[in-house]
Amino acid sequence: MSLEQTFQRPNYEQVVKKARDLLEEYCIEEPPVDVFALAEREGLSVIEAKFEDGRIAGLIDVPEERVIVNQDDAAPRQAFTVAHELGHWVLHRAKLLESPELSIQYRAGYLEQNEAWEKEANAFAAELLVPRTWLPSYEHLPIEKIAQIFGVSKEVIGYRFTRT
Ligand SMILES: [Zn+2]
Repeated sequence: MSLEQTFQRPNYEQVVKKARDLLEEYCIEEPPVDVFALAEREGLSVIEAKFEDGRIAGLIDVPEERVIVNQDDAAPRQAFTVAHELGHWVLHRAKLLESPELSIQYRAGYLEQNEAWEKEANAFAAELLVPRTWLPSYEHLPIEKIAQIFGVSKEVIGYRFTRT
Protein backbone atom coordinates (compact mmCIF):
# COMPACT_ATOMS: atom_id res chain seq x y z
CA MET A 1 0.00 0.00 0.00
CA SER A 2 1.43 3.35 -0.94
CA LEU A 3 1.77 6.22 1.49
CA GLU A 4 -0.56 8.20 -0.66
CA GLN A 5 -3.34 5.68 -0.08
CA THR A 6 -2.64 5.41 3.62
CA PHE A 7 -3.03 9.14 4.19
CA GLN A 8 -5.86 9.62 1.75
CA ARG A 9 -8.84 11.35 3.33
CA PRO A 10 -12.31 9.90 3.10
CA ASN A 11 -14.47 11.52 0.44
CA TYR A 12 -17.84 11.44 2.22
CA GLU A 13 -19.69 13.52 -0.35
CA GLN A 14 -18.93 11.05 -3.11
CA VAL A 15 -19.71 8.10 -0.85
CA VAL A 16 -23.14 9.40 0.12
CA LYS A 17 -23.94 10.16 -3.50
CA LYS A 18 -23.01 6.63 -4.60
CA ALA A 19 -25.25 5.10 -1.92
CA ARG A 20 -28.15 7.35 -2.94
CA ASP A 21 -27.61 6.58 -6.62
CA LEU A 22 -27.80 2.87 -5.90
CA LEU A 23 -31.10 3.19 -3.99
CA GLU A 24 -32.49 5.30 -6.79
CA GLU A 25 -31.34 2.89 -9.47
CA TYR A 26 -33.29 0.06 -7.83
CA CYS A 27 -36.24 2.29 -6.88
CA ILE A 28 -35.82 1.56 -3.18
CA GLU A 29 -37.78 4.18 -1.29
CA GLU A 30 -38.50 2.79 2.14
CA PRO A 31 -36.90 0.68 4.88
CA PRO A 32 -35.78 -1.97 5.37
CA VAL A 33 -33.20 -2.00 2.56
CA ASP A 34 -32.45 -5.60 1.63
CA VAL A 35 -28.69 -5.28 1.23
CA PHE A 36 -28.28 -9.00 0.59
CA ALA A 37 -30.46 -8.70 -2.53
CA LEU A 38 -28.82 -5.43 -3.48
CA ALA A 39 -25.32 -6.90 -3.27
CA GLU A 40 -26.40 -9.82 -5.45
CA ARG A 41 -27.92 -7.50 -8.02
CA GLU A 42 -24.59 -5.65 -8.08
CA GLY A 43 -22.82 -8.89 -8.98
CA LEU A 44 -21.69 -10.20 -5.60
CA SER A 45 -22.63 -13.53 -4.12
CA VAL A 46 -23.26 -13.33 -0.40
CA ILE A 47 -22.46 -16.36 1.72
CA GLU A 48 -22.85 -16.95 5.44
CA ALA A 49 -20.04 -18.86 7.11
CA LYS A 50 -18.47 -19.51 10.46
CA PHE A 51 -15.18 -17.73 11.09
CA GLU A 52 -12.54 -19.32 13.24
CA ASP A 53 -11.81 -15.82 14.49
CA GLY A 54 -15.22 -14.70 15.76
CA ARG A 55 -14.14 -11.05 15.78
CA ILE A 56 -14.33 -11.00 12.00
CA ALA A 57 -17.75 -9.74 10.91
CA GLY A 58 -17.15 -10.56 7.27
CA LEU A 59 -15.03 -10.00 4.24
CA ILE A 60 -15.11 -9.19 0.58
CA ASP A 61 -13.09 -11.25 -1.85
CA VAL A 62 -12.99 -8.94 -4.84
CA PRO A 63 -11.56 -11.26 -7.54
CA GLU A 64 -14.02 -14.00 -6.51
CA GLU A 65 -16.84 -11.43 -6.47
CA ARG A 66 -18.20 -12.59 -3.16
CA VAL A 67 -18.95 -11.42 0.34
CA ILE A 68 -18.75 -13.75 3.30
CA VAL A 69 -20.63 -12.73 6.40
CA ASN A 70 -20.30 -14.17 9.92
CA GLN A 71 -23.20 -16.58 10.40
CA ASP A 72 -23.12 -16.08 14.16
CA ASP A 73 -23.83 -12.35 13.99
CA ALA A 74 -27.33 -10.98 14.56
CA ALA A 75 -29.26 -9.83 11.49
CA PRO A 76 -28.66 -6.07 12.01
CA ARG A 77 -24.91 -6.59 12.24
CA GLN A 78 -24.93 -8.85 9.19
CA ALA A 79 -26.85 -6.20 7.25
CA PHE A 80 -24.27 -3.57 8.15
CA THR A 81 -21.41 -5.89 7.21
CA VAL A 82 -22.90 -6.67 3.80
CA ALA A 83 -23.59 -2.97 3.21
CA HIS A 84 -20.01 -2.13 4.23
CA GLU A 85 -18.55 -4.72 1.87
CA LEU A 86 -20.85 -3.57 -0.92
CA GLY A 87 -19.38 -0.14 -0.25
CA HIS A 88 -15.88 -1.47 -0.96
CA TRP A 89 -17.24 -3.08 -4.13
CA VAL A 90 -18.86 0.12 -5.39
CA LEU A 91 -16.19 2.56 -4.23
CA HIS A 92 -12.86 0.74 -4.24
CA ARG A 93 -13.15 -2.24 -6.58
CA ALA A 94 -10.71 -1.01 -9.21
CA LYS A 95 -8.01 -0.19 -6.65
CA LEU A 96 -8.56 -3.42 -4.73
CA LEU A 97 -8.09 -5.42 -7.93
CA GLU A 98 -4.80 -3.69 -8.69
CA SER A 99 -2.92 -5.38 -5.88
CA PRO A 100 -3.48 -8.98 -4.79
CA GLU A 101 -2.64 -8.22 -1.16
CA LEU A 102 -5.59 -5.81 -1.00
CA SER A 103 -8.09 -7.96 -2.86
CA ILE A 104 -9.53 -9.50 0.30
CA GLN A 105 -10.79 -6.93 2.79
CA TYR A 106 -11.88 -8.02 6.26
CA ARG A 107 -14.36 -6.26 8.45
CA ALA A 108 -12.68 -6.47 11.82
CA GLY A 109 -11.78 -3.40 13.83
CA TYR A 110 -8.50 -4.70 15.18
CA LEU A 111 -6.95 -5.34 11.77
CA GLU A 112 -4.86 -2.55 10.30
CA GLN A 113 -6.32 -1.67 6.96
CA ASN A 114 -6.67 1.45 4.88
CA GLU A 115 -8.46 3.69 7.33
CA ALA A 116 -9.90 6.05 4.74
CA TRP A 117 -11.44 3.13 2.85
CA GLU A 118 -12.91 1.69 6.05
CA LYS A 119 -14.46 5.04 6.93
CA GLU A 120 -15.84 5.38 3.42
CA ALA A 121 -17.32 1.87 3.48
CA ASN A 122 -18.95 2.58 6.86
CA ALA A 123 -20.38 5.89 5.66
CA PHE A 124 -21.68 4.16 2.54
CA ALA A 125 -23.31 1.42 4.64
CA ALA A 126 -24.95 3.95 6.95
CA GLU A 127 -26.37 5.99 4.09
CA LEU A 128 -27.52 2.87 2.22
CA LEU A 129 -29.30 1.31 5.21
CA VAL A 130 -30.51 4.53 6.81
CA PRO A 131 -30.66 7.28 4.18
CA ARG A 132 -30.68 10.56 6.03
CA THR A 133 -33.56 11.90 3.97
CA TRP A 134 -35.82 9.08 5.20
CA LEU A 135 -35.27 9.73 8.88
CA PRO A 136 -37.62 12.70 9.50
CA SER A 137 -40.68 10.46 8.92
CA TYR A 138 -39.61 8.23 11.81
CA GLU A 139 -38.20 10.79 14.24
CA HIS A 140 -41.22 10.66 16.54
CA LEU A 141 -40.65 6.95 17.26
CA PRO A 142 -38.37 5.48 19.94
CA ILE A 143 -34.87 4.58 18.70
CA GLU A 144 -35.51 0.85 19.31
CA LYS A 145 -38.52 1.00 17.00
CA ILE A 146 -36.67 2.94 14.30
CA ALA A 147 -33.81 0.43 14.46
CA GLN A 148 -36.31 -2.39 14.02
CA ILE A 149 -37.96 -0.72 11.03
CA PHE A 150 -34.61 -0.12 9.31
CA GLY A 151 -33.17 -3.51 10.29
CA VAL A 152 -30.09 -2.01 11.90
CA SER A 153 -28.72 -1.67 15.41
CA LYS A 154 -29.76 1.13 17.76
CA GLU A 155 -26.18 2.43 17.58
CA VAL A 156 -26.45 3.00 13.83
CA ILE A 157 -29.66 4.99 14.30
CA GLY A 158 -28.08 6.93 17.15
CA TYR A 159 -25.14 7.91 14.95
CA ARG A 160 -27.49 8.99 12.16
CA PHE A 161 -29.21 11.44 14.49
CA THR A 162 -26.12 12.83 16.16
CA ARG A 163 -23.44 12.99 13.47
CA THR A 164 -23.36 15.08 10.38
ZN1 LIG B 1 -13.83 -2.75 5.16
